[in-house]
Amino acid sequence: MADNDLVRSILIVGGGTAGWMSAAALVRALSSRCSITLVESDAIGTVGVGEATIPPIRLFNQMLGIDERDFLRETRGSYKLGIEFVNWGEAGHRYFHPFGPYGRAFDTVDLHQYWLRARAEGEAAPLCDHSMAWQLAKANRFCPPSPDPRNVLSTFDYAYHFDAGLYAAYLRRYAEARGVHRVEGQVAAVHRHGEDGFVAGVTLADGQRLDADLFIDCSGFRGLLIEGALETGYQDWSHWLPCDRAMAVPSENVGPLTPYTRSTAREAGWQWRIPLQHRTGNGYVYCSQFLSDDEAASRLLARLDGKALGEPRPLRFTTGRRNRFWNRNVVAIGLSSGFMEPLESTSIHLIQAGIAKLIALFPDRGFDPLVIEEYNRLAIAEYERIRDFLVLHYKLTRRDDAELWRYCAAMDIPDTLATKIEHFRRYGRLVAREADLFGPPSWLAVQIGQGNWPEATDPVAAYRDVDGRGWLARLRAAMTQTASVQPDHAAYIAGQVGLMPATGGA
Ligand code: FAD
Repeated sequence: MADNDLVRSILIVGGGTAGWMSAAALVRALSSRCSITLVESDAIGTVGVGEATIPPIRLFNQMLGIDERDFLRETRGSYKLGIEFVNWGEAGHRYFHPFGPYGRAFDTVDLHQYWLRARAEGEAAPLCDHSMAWQLAKANRFCPPSPDPRNVLSTFDYAYHFDAGLYAAYLRRYAEARGVHRVEGQVAAVHRHGEDGFVAGVTLADGQRLDADLFIDCSGFRGLLIEGALETGYQDWSHWLPCDRAMAVPSENVGPLTPYTRSTAREAGWQWRIPLQHRTGNGYVYCSQFLSDDEAASRLLARLDGKALGEPRPLRFTTGRRNRFWNRNVVAIGLSSGFMEPLESTSIHLIQAGIAKLIALFPDRGFDPLVIEEYNRLAIAEYERIRDFLVLHYKLTRRDDAELWRYCAAMDIPDTLATKIEHFRRYGRLVAREADLFGPPSWLAVQIGQGNWPEATDPVAAYRDVDGRGWLARLRAAMTQTASVQPDHAAYIAGQVGLMPATGGA
């Protein structure tokens, strides 16, 4: 490729998690041969939430060459082994969505088929007892997974909880040290080329003009370029995911530092609990049709574990996605591209996935439609598969004690999801789709956790001559015993980062 065909300048609009993740990854991938500028406005600020992640975040940090201990110290982070769901299937019921598989495959037939058979024969052990992530989580313990596949500690995965503001600041230092140029200012106007409608540049409130070849819209819900300038359009998914508001408030840590997120279903939505080293993040995600903002705030405050460290902060959103994630020479990354509620902590992952796709399909100055269409195809598929997984939680509720839950139990769902629910209900089979971020163990956790009990097991299991019950019992025993001798989560972090958490610990 001729040098003058290369994209020579990138302008990132927005300096939240999306902006600084994009800046860090792009400067790493493109080095100094492409000038990268990021403009952000202190007056506007960031959304300021987003503290729970899923395991691929570790790959992102590794790709940047970030040391885990340094990262945990700088972001006051903790480890996350999965999500505990409380009151979702029905009031008083709990289940765990673990990171990683249930045990290790011991046959060509899935482990859970033997578990379903054992359960039909009166075996009472819960499914999650066969998950190493859960065995560690319920004992508030943590250690890194073993690289040895014969070790039961190789059968789990992990992610982090962290302070999103500190993470953005950390990545800012990283990006600026490698040449990203930061401009403080508010974008007041967006300029487009007359002939093709491509974005040419932006003018800031102080009159400064910033031009570039490629623009990354990380301006948050506003979607300053992708929507404000290019009017790309938005698909509203509120009929499937009706929550449209959140109240967020941090609280003091009390009790042990749990290595998992908790999601508790409430009357008009659900409440998150995210433990960090120095505080606990809390929020109530709710549907404004069924609960007022004042009620949401007071109920959240009444249900905190520890003392609130401020006033609840309201946030509004419309669940859905842009019609196109990449339009002309603008790529929307982060909240500007769409939003799905943080039930499975997928937003930061979608930022990471957007960046990875952009680097894999990096354009030249011709902005070939072939490249742009492929990016959009992949992004749409990924969004839709995550949407289905989130809707699964609502659809499978057996609660009928509040309007939101009655609405969700009765609502129509996407065909792609209906098929998965039906396969599981008939034979306990987990059918996968292209771009499914959440693999079979995740779907299994929620299907079983919320009571979609299969009518029959996979017929193939009946041909097998395997002592599944004995194998499951040995697996559980090995996991329980192994978990019991691992370090306490808080103590493990303290050893890693050289700090003691504010509260909790052994
Ligand atoms: P923002 O943080 O809003 O940043 C926008 C940036 O654009 C800011 O720097 C702002 O100054 C700048 N900007 C805007 N307009 C202008 C302008 N005119 N001129 C100059 N600059 C401008 N994600 C997770 O992965 N896990 C979670 O647990 C999680 N929880 C969440 C809970 C809630 C209630 C919500 C709403 C979101 C949650 N998210 C979560 C999502 C997560 O917060 C976002 O994905 C992430 O913070 C990225 O935000 P952003 O950078 O796209 O936008």
